[in-house]
Amino acid sequence: MTAVPDIEFRGVTKRYGAVTAVSGIDLAVPPSAFVALLGPSGCGKTTCLRMIGGFEQPSEGQVFIRGQDMAGTPPYRRPVNMVFQQYALFPHLDVEANVSYGLRQARPRLSSREIGRRSGEALEMVRLAGYGGRKIHELSGGQQQRVALARALVNKPAVLLLDEPLAALDKKLRTDMQIELQNLQREIGITFVLVTHDQEEALSMSDFVCVMNGGRIVQLGQPSEIYDEPADLFVADFVGKTNLLPGKVAGHAGDLVSVALADGTVIAARKRTALQQGEAVSISLRPESLSLGAPTSGPLKGVVRNRIFLGSTAEYAIEVQGIGTLLAKTDHLIGQGNLFKPGEPVAIGYASGTPLAFPETKNNGTNQRVNKHVEIIS
Ligand code: ATP
Repeated sequence: MTAVPDIEFRGVTKRYGAVTAVSGIDLAVPPSAFVALLGPSGCGKTTCLRMIGGFEQPSEGQVFIRGQDMAGTPPYRRPVNMVFQQYALFPHLDVEANVSYGLRQARPRLSSREIGRRSGEALEMVRLAGYGGRKIHELSGGQQQRVALARALVNKPAVLLLDEPLAALDKKLRTDMQIELQNLQREIGITFVLVTHDQEEALSMSDFVCVMNGGRIVQLGQPSEIYDEPADLFVADFVGKTNLLPGKVAGHAGDLVSVALADGTVIAARKRTALQQGEAVSISLRPESLSLGAPTSGPLKGVVRNRIFLGSTAEYAIEVQGIGTLLAKTDHLIGQGNLFKPGEPVAIGYASGTPLAFPETKNNGTNQRVNKHVEIIS
């Protein structure tokens, strides 16, 4: 028997007047999962989160939490809590009072002893035991974030909703909190739904990533699946860095297609969907899947335009005539002398895997993508 999902969307659409924010979403989140809703600004992530929380109602379809249809259930009756980007703490109250605020409103009333015990437990979970008497302004940004988490966990929700909760923190603190959140979710075992537009955050923290675009789910999978086996051109480009090379289908061989690039080079690629002879496609080549070698080897030839030495790896911008500038990332083997210099001719091959070919969709603006890495690298 499969477990009842903690959250389920069945054919959910949300319209705001003429704007369709979310369109026909079906989604089942298994119990005790850490799922990230990832996508560009305006793709409908927050709207999905708010429909789970009960702050918005679907225009069509149903939202279930642990098998219960939530239609007509107000936010405070749902077994969920939400942590916002701006933690919305009460500045005039101390930490304990902030954390126990919801418990004090509970009906039937809880005893002060019970309230104290539960807030203490929640503060311990977020490693703030002993901070109960502190004022909010006496805490660091990371500590305030943890108070907000404790407050959301204190009434033991089935699901915790996190709306870009780390966006206000600086990079170092954000990385620390990412690890803490991940550990916390594993310890307490409730489902976390994280909304983020930061693909590294989504990939590093969650068990499942739900990639959204234009109000729809374009791919749902484990982080490695999303990265290694993107469903379409949008996911390939949005999640991680990739080189997108435009070309045309020149032939078929079993599961592979041969693609003729703009400079006439033909390369073999895997495909996600049926592709027609002559169809315009983009080949996705991850920078780390490329290898650089002597100019006589490899299918593509270019000239190193820029190099960034990163210790264990090096990133190169390589200009390939007739195609554009490609980003390559290679392991730097100490003492092997395999660092290429700007101006040096190189051949580009594949260190691993077979590239993927995706049909070009109109207006996705990807035709210039191979050149964008010049800006990243220089
Ligand atoms: P961001 O990362 O910028 O927060 P998002 O992916 O969370 O974006 P939503 O906030 O869910 O996106 O918005 C989806 C779409 O719905 C957008 O086009 C947005 O402008 C629209 N929208 C959201 N809330 C409302 C509202 N209350 N009234 C009208 N339109 C809205």
